[in-house]
Amino acid sequence: MSGNDNHGRHTEAIHGGLDPFRFEGAVSVPIFQSSTFAFKNTEQGANRFAGKEGGYIYTRLANPTVDALQESVAAMEGGTHALATASGMAAVSAVYFAFTEPGAHVVASSAMYGPSRVILEKEFSRFKVDATFVNTADLDALQAAMRPETKLVYVETPTNPTIEVTDLTRAAEIAHAGDALLVVDNTFLSPYLQRPFRHGADIVLHSMTKFLNGHADVVAGILVTKDDDLHARLGYVLKNLGGTIDPHQAWLVHRGLRTLPMRMERAQSNAILVAKFLQSHEAVEWVNYPGLPEHPGHALIGSQMAGPGSLLSFGVKGGLEAGARVLNSVRVMILAVSLGGVESLIQHPASMTHAGMTPEAREAAGISDGLIRLSVGCENPEDLIADLEQALAWGPVNDRTA
Ligand SMILES: *Cc1c(COP(=O)(O)O)cnc(C)c1O
Repeated sequence: MSGNDNHGRHTEAIHGGLDPFRFEGAVSVPIFQSSTFAFKNTEQGANRFAGKEGGYIYTRLANPTVDALQESVAAMEGGTHALATASGMAAVSAVYFAFTEPGAHVVASSAMYGPSRVILEKEFSRFKVDATFVNTADLDALQAAMRPETKLVYVETPTNPTIEVTDLTRAAEIAHAGDALLVVDNTFLSPYLQRPFRHGADIVLHSMTKFLNGHADVVAGILVTKDDDLHARLGYVLKNLGGTIDPHQAWLVHRGLRTLPMRMERAQSNAILVAKFLQSHEAVEWVNYPGLPEHPGHALIGSQMAGPGSLLSFGVKGGLEAGARVLNSVRVMILAVSLGGVESLIQHPASMTHAGMTPEAREAAGISDGLIRLSVGCENPEDLIADLEQALAWGPVNDRTA
């Protein structure tokens, strides 16, 4: 089934990019666990290398299992090409590497994923690539950060972990007016809830470690495009730098994709209930969740976003100390970084995922010491709420080292 058949999103996730008769009728794509592929004769090998003939050569360049995954994700995003990568960071760094050079400038969301920011600040700066970090939800700030040498506008929406929503249509207009590419990290909502190509994005990337795989058992990423030249440039860089995916890892993600819509529906309906519970709790100071009507990003639900997703952050009264107490007291939720799996994960960005930023940069990005990030999973909502209720009531500390 191709991605253009106009089916519903559940049907598309289950059948998109899959043709069982491509592989002997196999309904699940086989794992082609082979690093290299034989040629029938020298002429065939030469033709494959010259691109005169299709067919596989070597798994870092292409592999049938990886191709099936790429076709499925490209179809879900409404793109034409995808390149699966060994991690989300392999996708992010391939973008920076492919489209910057000394003197180039990048504008990015200030509260973006920690390492995505750190490699720009600490590594690409060594090659004279300059970066400005702004709250891209503030379109005037985004406009003001643009320079003649800006090559990339890199947006995460909602941001991690501040849950700020950027209007992608407007961001695309600003990027394109300055001849820059709009790159969207769509990890937090997945193509099930947000399709950035519809709003003008040039490159959509994911950490597939999160929602696309969904089971906390794989690290992987993907780069999706709808333009042959961008795809060719990214493919050239990625395949030569070597951050490509392994066939077994690709197969696991492909299996996870089939249930993406069901998982996201469940996690999102849980998150709405959890957010309302937190908001009504006296120990909670604030809740950031686009599903709440007072959230500034709420207005983009129905246009840019099909729903608010299942990521939220909140602050408890008493700051860092009180927050640590909550984290140490949960019993159903797991104290761990990462997100987007069937299990609810809770973490503390200032000491964990965003510890690599300076305290000043964290403050500027709105990541306070008391901020707790919660990735709501697919459990029974009453169990999640009861878990938070006992943790917020200063229940017995459940320190797992004890
Ligand atoms: C996790 C994450 C990444 C990095 O992905 P890895 O698979 O861990 O390399 C990038 N962006 C966002 C928004 C993420 O959540």
